[in-house]
Amino acid sequence: MVKEVKVGKCINISSDGQGIVYLDSKKTFVPSLLIGEEAEIEILYRKKDFNVGKIVKLLTKSPYRINPKCKCSTACGGCCFQNLEYKEELRIKRENAINIIKSIANINAKDSKIIGMENPYNYRNKIQVPFGYDKQNRLVYGFYKIKSHDIIPIEECAIEDLSHKSILKDIQILMKDMKITAYNEDLDKGILRHILLRVGKNSGEIMVVLITRVFTFPSKQNFIKALKEKHPEITTIIQNVNERKTNVILGNKEYVLYGKGYIVDSLLGVNFKISSKSFYQINHDQCEKLYSLALTKAKLNKDDEIVDLYCGIGTIGLIASKYVTSVIGVEVVNEAIIDAKENAKLNNINNARFVCDDASNFLLKKSYDCVFVDPPRKGLDQKVIKALINSHPKKIIYISCDVSTLARDLNILKNYFNIDSIDFVDMFPRTFHIETVIALSLKKLKNLFFFCLGKQKSSLKSLKDIKSP
Ligand code: SAH
Repeated sequence: MVKEVKVGKCINISSDGQGIVYLDSKKTFVPSLLIGEEAEIEILYRKKDFNVGKIVKLLTKSPYRINPKCKCSTACGGCCFQNLEYKEELRIKRENAINIIKSIANINAKDSKIIGMENPYNYRNKIQVPFGYDKQNRLVYGFYKIKSHDIIPIEECAIEDLSHKSILKDIQILMKDMKITAYNEDLDKGILRHILLRVGKNSGEIMVVLITRVFTFPSKQNFIKALKEKHPEITTIIQNVNERKTNVILGNKEYVLYGKGYIVDSLLGVNFKISSKSFYQINHDQCEKLYSLALTKAKLNKDDEIVDLYCGIGTIGLIASKYVTSVIGVEVVNEAIIDAKENAKLNNINNARFVCDDASNFLLKKSYDCVFVDPPRKGLDQKVIKALINSHPKKIIYISCDVSTLARDLNILKNYFNIDSIDFVDMFPRTFHIETVIALSLKKLKNLFFFCLGKQKSSLKSLKDIKSP
C-alpha cells in the first residue's frame, strides 16, 4: 500500500500525551510531536472521528524539545513526555486537566496549582519485568512492546529506582551461568517468568520476587546465595509460583526464600509493611506531597471522626490518625485490610479500625466530619455518590487518578458540596498521568430535605432522584 504522508502543525497535546494535528480538517494524533512543531506525518490508520499518524520528518523543532533520557522511550510507550522539558510537561498536564474539569463539570479550576518533582526521574519504587528470549534465542528482559508480548530489551529505564538496574543485570548473568531458563509463553515451558522488584525509598529495604512457573528449579539455593552476595542491599527474596498459562503476573503460592518476606517503608513518619501484592503508591516523595496536601485541605480537628474510603493498606487514614479522634478505613480487598490492621499495630495506632467492605455499603451509618475518597480510575460508583450525598459529611477530600471520571462525579457532587480547592500532584513524571486533590465542603443547603433523606437511610432509587437540589 502507498504511504500517505502529509505536512501538518501540532496545535495541542491530548490528555494522553499525543500531539494533535489537523490534516484535511481531521484530528490526527501524532505521538512525540510537540506544540508548534511542523512535520511530515504518515497516516497509519483512519478511524471515523480521527486519524493516527507518526512523524516521518520533523520540519520545525519546539524550543522545549529535549533528548529523551531513555534510548527506548518511543518503543516502550510508557513515557510520552521524555522529549519535553519537564516544566512544559507540567504546564500541559495542568492545562489539560483544567479543560476537562471545565468541559465535563463546568467548574473553573484556573486557580489550581500543580506540584511537580525536583528531579522527575528514578522515582518508580516497583517494577515487574518479563524475562524471555529474543529472535536469536538470547536471554533478554525488558518491557512488552505495546499491544504484544514481544519483549523489548531494556537495561535501563529512566523512571525506575536506581537500585533496579544492576540487580536485573546480575539476575540475567546468574541465570545464564546456572542454566535457569526463562519462561516461553508459546510453549508454556521454562522457569522464570518475571522479576518483581520493590524498594522502600525511605528505609532502603529491597524486595526481589522471582515469579516462576514451577517451584523446583536447578541451582535454586546457589542462585539465591550468589544473588545475596552480589547484592547485600537486598533485604528479602520471595518466590511466587504461577503455574498457569495466563497474562496475570503473580500466582497464588508464595515462599519466602530469604529475609522477612516483606519490606517496610515510611510515609510522613508512619511505617508501612509492604508485601509483594500490596498496593503501595509507586512514587514515594510525591505521595508524601499528595497526602500532605490532602491533610492540609482537610483542616482536621482533634475531635473529628473521619473515614478513609478505598483505603488500601491504610496509608491516608493512619497518617491522619494523630490529628483526629477516630479513623475508619474501608477497602474491598481483604488482604489489604489485613495489612492495614497490621500497620496500625506496627505504629501503635489505637484509634483506627478497618473494615473490609464495598465503599458503597458503608457511609450511611452516620455523618462523618471528613471522608477521604481515593477510588480507582473508574471513579465513584453511583451508590457511593448517593451515599456521600445522603450521609452529608462536613468535608470530602477526593483524590483522583483520572480527571475525566473525577469531573463526572464532581458534576453531581457540586450540587451539594462547595468546591473549595482543586490542585494537582504529578505522581508520574514523564507520563501523561496526573493526580488531583479536591476539597469539598457541605453546602448550607436551604433544603434540609436531603438531610432527612439521609437519616432515613434514603428511599432514593437512582441518582436521577438527587440531581437537582
Ligand atoms: N488510598 C490508598 C489506595 C488507593 S487505590 C493509597 O493511597 O495507597 C484504590 C483502592 O480502592 C484499592 O486498594 C482498591 O482495592 C480499592 N477499591 C476498589 N474498588 C473498591 C470498592 N468498590 N470499595 C472499596 N474499595 C475499593
